[in-house]
This record gives sequence, structure tokens and C-alpha cells, in this order.
Amino acid sequence: MTNFKTLDNFKRLNEVQKEAVLHDKGPLLVLAGAGTGKTGVLTTRLSRLLIENIALPGEILSVTFTNKAANEMRSRVSDQIGDKASGLKWLGTFHSIGAQILRTYPEKIGLKNDFIILDTDDQTRLLKQLIRDENIDDKKWSPKGLLNLIDKWKNKGILPGNISRDDGDYFANGKGAILYRKYQDQLKFFNAADFGDLILECIRLFNENQDILEQYQNRFKFMLVDEYQDTNSSQYSLLKLLSNKWMNICCVGDDDQSIYSWRGAEVSNILRFEKDFPNAKVIRLEQNYRSTGNILAAASRLIESNESRFGKTLWTSSSEGEKVSITSTWDGEEEARIITDEIERYSLNNKNLDEIAILVRASFQMREFEDRFISVGLPYKVIGGPRFYERKEIRDANAYFRIAIQPNDSLALERILNTPRRGIGETTIKKIKDYSKNNNISTIEAIKDLIKTSEIKPKTKISLKNFVELTDRWHSLLNERSHYELAEIILEDSGYLEMLRNDDSITAAGRLENIKELFRSIEPFESLNAYLEHIALVMEIDKNPDGNKVSLMTLHAAKGLEFDYVYLPGWEEGVFPNQRSLDEGGIESLEEERRLAYVGITRAKIKSSIFYAANRKMHNQWLSSIPSRFINEMPEDNLEINLSHFSGNQKSFTDIEEDTFDQSDYSTPGWERAKIESSIKNLENNQPKIIKNSNAKYSKGSIVIHKKFGQGKVESVDGKKLTIDFGESGTRKVMENFVESLN
Ligand code: ATP
Ligand code: MG
Repeated sequence: MTNFKTLDNFKRLNEVQKEAVLHDKGPLLVLAGAGTGKTGVLTTRLSRLLIENIALPGEILSVTFTNKAANEMRSRVSDQIGDKASGLKWLGTFHSIGAQILRTYPEKIGLKNDFIILDTDDQTRLLKQLIRDENIDDKKWSPKGLLNLIDKWKNKGILPGNISRDDGDYFANGKGAILYRKYQDQLKFFNAADFGDLILECIRLFNENQDILEQYQNRFKFMLVDEYQDTNSSQYSLLKLLSNKWMNICCVGDDDQSIYSWRGAEVSNILRFEKDFPNAKVIRLEQNYRSTGNILAAASRLIESNESRFGKTLWTSSSEGEKVSITSTWDGEEEARIITDEIERYSLNNKNLDEIAILVRASFQMREFEDRFISVGLPYKVIGGPRFYERKEIRDANAYFRIAIQPNDSLALERILNTPRRGIGETTIKKIKDYSKNNNISTIEAIKDLIKTSEIKPKTKISLKNFVELTDRWHSLLNERSHYELAEIILEDSGYLEMLRNDDSITAAGRLENIKELFRSIEPFESLNAYLEHIALVMEIDKNPDGNKVSLMTLHAAKGLEFDYVYLPGWEEGVFPNQRSLDEGGIESLEEERRLAYVGITRAKIKSSIFYAANRKMHNQWLSSIPSRFINEMPEDNLEINLSHFSGNQKSFTDIEEDTFDQSDYSTPGWERAKIESSIKNLENNQPKIIKNSNAKYSKGSIVIHKKFGQGKVESVDGKKLTIDFGESGTRKVMENFVESLN
């Protein structure tokens, strides 16, 4: 047997990390800040269990947050111990593990083995129908609202029978609980589960079947959980149930990185751990191995502004490295241009694009970057976020595949019954649906019955008959043709491809391309079913994920990852912290936004670069913006401020000090000089550089000029924020850096 302690991965660990890896039996909680090696500890611990034959691969349950993280963990363990890592059947996300358990005992919870996993689109359509059936006004009580509510209940592990009156009253004057029950019944009727069910129904399965629970409890001799701070109540209950026999559960997490409360994550699970697992050992790691001194100092100070946190000290033996840069730009386009230019320069210097990431607060910010990347030919990948398979044409194609496999899949069928148009109108669809409901049969069965009657107009009848024949044919071809050939046959026969070919809108060509890409992506799977299962579960689809590409993703998707260079655009009030979040959740949400900022900055090993744009187009309107408060919460010693906007020239404070203020250096000299002078003044006064500036340059009545809004008159001054009347362009709040005095 290889001596585990001689492996390089173990040898390099510090003493506290080793303690966690070698912790023998019993519950263990590793609570530590970003980049301290939590995930590393978990992976090394997993290797140790296998290499020292403490447990077999099938006896270890390892849970991580995304499929990407699970794949990474698997490959890290393989690198460490080779073949011994094969057979880690229970390494995955909570959802994939839940699905695996439910597929073993579907009948115990009222499903069949080939049950489908619904996405939010299907869920919403189903809920809309249920709301209407109850004669509730779905304008006032929206399906999305009900979906959120049901999601919340599921995250908390609440079944329809356990809803308290108060909770049930949330929706449509007390109808919430009834709708939830009906929804669950409908899911069973459609042989479907939603994401929440993958955990909730596991818990029900275990609670109602002690023997099955014991079987899993016996199996999982060891359990490992990464990103523990973001587990929700249901997931916690599942962990607790499963670990109850051996109690060998090791959770690692960081309260400062809890960023999924909107999905029901409860950071209080960290506190519960010590209570529920009485003899739990708690280990804290304090040395950060990921980032340079400046990155760590800036992030640590930022997160100190949060009040609800355990508090921790982090240190690094790395050098100070480059400062965290703060760059202001004119607008989002310039932001994307500057960042792309910089990445291209890195790339010319043989820096690996895989080591560069752009992390945005909201997915709308991505478009600007995608446009730019495409236009300059910079290879990139979008991780998480609006995914390939969330595109309409991909969803439609999937619905077709679903009915080929399971003609009784009514949700899928209803989606494409009249796409492309087959002359099957609303009235006919309603007739079909009513018939199916009244007779408790699927939509396709209802169609088959109805075309034998005179209920439906002859012309429509022909369309429906053709449609039924097609679905029968596809179903019969399932075992006749390869699944990827069949996929093409289906979309060709159905007229879907023809519809796209005949569509002369700008997007049609792209959609056709996407469908072609879809065919390519289906091929490697064993079957259409395997492909559908995959897309229901994966967090991201990438054509060539291994290629050398810049990563573009949301901050949420970046959790646990690391890159040499990290770009953080859009640090503006309203964008980040996100306005909706602030409006809805007050101080708690602000703290969660700050944790997101902390997660963002700490993804970088070498450099974090923050950007804010002076103007943003939102909902077709130009808005001028104010730099994020988070910028001001970081210590200026660790920051480098770039005053590049409008000109594209990036200058740090040091550059400016050495500069002779040669106006010819700037494309808009007066403009730039005003900004530089004001900044230098700040520097001399040793003021924090960006927002806090009591030396207001303008006062009520000052006449100013703004590059976009033209001439205006200052109405009021709040620090560096000016309210200016721009006449025809309206009254706007603008940072003083972005106007020039005309007085
Ligand atoms: P996060 O909180 O962001 O999830 P983490 O605590 O899980 O971070 P890891 O991703 O495990 O941290 O490790 C961060 C980096 O530090 C990795 O590049 C890892 O290889 C490195 N690292 C961890 N421990 C050591 C060590 N003892 N010696 C050298 N490098 C280490
Ligand atoms: Mg980690």
C-alpha cells in the first residue's frame, strides 16, 4: 500500500490542514476564509480514505456545489491516486445525488423510473394552469410568485401537509397550500420532479421507509461536504439523516462566502452543526495560499464592514503583489473594450487565457463582453448563467425529444404542439386539455380520442392526426436509429428546421446554428434519454470546455474557483450592490452583496481589477451611475486608481505624480485635467480617493458641462454627487468627476 503521508499533496499541507485530513472518525467542521485550502483538504482527505483502504469509493458521499466543482474534485483525486479513484459513484451535487437515489426507488414516492426533471419554464406553465383552474387572477397572483413560494417551502423541507396557516396564507388569500398540494399531484401525474423534489422527496422517501434509509446510512461510511455555508435546510436534513449511523461527516465552509440565501441557503447551518453533532471537532485554517498580500488585505477589510459574521484572521506569506486596481470608464462599452484590450495584451505575453476571468453581478452585463470578444476573436466561455440549453430553440428541440421518448409527456407536447404552426389554435388546445383533465389521461391520448369525434374542425383534425402519426413514428424509431440520427429526423419531420430556414429574421440563422450545435452535442451520449438527463442536471454546457479561453460568469458561479487575473466590472451602486436586492432585503441583502464582492476579489491569485462605468444603459435608458460603496470600503493602501475613462489611457496615481500634466497626453485635455487635479488634491489631503471628498468643487448654481448630457446647472451637492439640471436631458445625479466646470 502506498504510504499516503509520502504523497506530495499531503506533504505540502500545513499542520492544521494535515490535522483535518487525518481526522479519524466523527464529525468535523472546517471553518475558514477564502483560499485557505478547504477544498484541498477535502480532496486530500478523500484520497486518503481511498488509498489507506479506510473506505471503498462507493462508501463515500462527496457533495460539492456545481457539476464543474464535482468534476474538478474527481480529476484532482484521480491525479493524486490514479485508479483507486474510479468508482466514486456518489461524488456530485446535492441534486445529482438526490436524482440518483430517487431513480432507485421512484415507485416509493409515486414516480416511475424514467421520470423527467422539470425546469423553471415547465414549472411556471404548470403553475399558471393550476392558478387558472382555481379561478385565481394570475395577473395579481403570478405563477412566478407561487413558484418562488413553493421553492422556499421545498428548500425548508416543508411538505404540502406541513404548511402552517400563516405560510399558506401568503398566496391568493390562503390558497397557497392547496396549490402546492395540487402542484405536487400534477408532478406525479406527469411523472416529473422539480429540482426541489430531488432533495425533498429523498427526505420523504427516507422518512417513510426506514429500511431504505438504513441501507444508505450503512453505505455512506464517510461524507464530505464542500461550500457547506450554502446548504439549505432540506440539504442539511438530508446530510443529517444519512450521516446518522457512522457520524463521519466532514463539512468545510466559510460564513463570509454565503451567497445563496435567495435560494434558501442558511448560514445558521454552521451553528447547528456543532449542536446537532455534539462531539464535532472544529478546525480553523488561517493561512491563505491563493492571493497576494494586497488582494487579501483589500478583501479582508471590505468584509469587515459586515456585522453578522464570525470574524477571522487571514494571513499570507506571499508578497504584496500588485494592488487591486480601480478603473472608471465612460460606459459599459468602454469597460468591455479596456478589459478586452488588456486581456489581449496578456495573451500576447503568452499568458494563459484559462487563468483569466470576468465576473459580473448580473448576466445582462455579459452581452457587452460577448460582443466584444466575438468582434476581436478572443476565445471565451460562459460558465453557468444563460445557458446554451436555455435558448428557446434548444428547449423546443428538447421538448420534441421528450415526446419521442415518452409520448405521454404532456408538458413537452403542449410546448411544441403548434410550433411550428400547424393551425392548432388556442380553442382546440383548450378543448384537448379539458378533455385530458376530465378523463385523467395524457394530452396525446386526449388528442387520439378527440380526432375520432366531431368536436374538432376537419382541417384541424388532419393536423392533429398528422402530428399523432409523427410522434408514433418517432417513438417506434427509438430503437431503430441511432439517437443522433433520430434527433435530426425528428426536427426535420416536424417541420421545425424548415421553419427556421424560412424565417428571415436576424436571429433565425443563429438559431439554426444552435440546433446544428445541438446535434453535435447529442452524439457522444448513449441515448436521447441520457442527453436529456444530462441537460436537466448540468450547470453548464460548453462545446470545448478544455480549450484555452477567458471565462465569463456571474460572481455566484465563481464560488470556489480561482484564476490568476480577475476582472470585476460594473461596481456601481444599483448594479453592485444590486438595487433589487437592496430594495427587497435591506441590510441583510447588503451584507450578502458584500460577501459576493469578497468572493469576487478573492478569486484572484495575482491581480483583481475592479471597474465602474459612469453611464449605463438599462431598460433602454441611459443612467449615470455612482461608484459602488464597496470601493470605498477597501483600504486605499492596497488600491491603485486608474483615471482612464474617455481616453482609454490608464494611469495609476504613481503615474500621475510623475506626470508633468502635459495636456497633449490626453484626448480631452481640460476634462482629464479637472479629474486629475481633483484626484491629486485628494491625494495631498490624504483622503480616501473615490467617493469621500468633502472638498466639494461645485456648489449650487455652478454651471458645468457633461460629455453626454451637455450644459447644466448644479442644483445640489452631496459630497461628490451632484444633482444637475441638464435642461432637455433632464435632472440627473452625476459624480463630479464626470463634469467640467464652465464657471
Ligand atoms: P475557497 O474559499 O475560495 O473555496 P479554499 O479554502 O477551498 O478556497 P483551495 O481552493 O483549496 O481553498 O486552495 C486555494 C489555493 O491554495 C489552491 O491553489 C491550492 O492549491 C493552494 N493551497 C492550499 N493549501 C496549500 C498549501 N498547504 N501549500 C501550498 N498551496 C496550497
Ligand atoms: Mg473551496
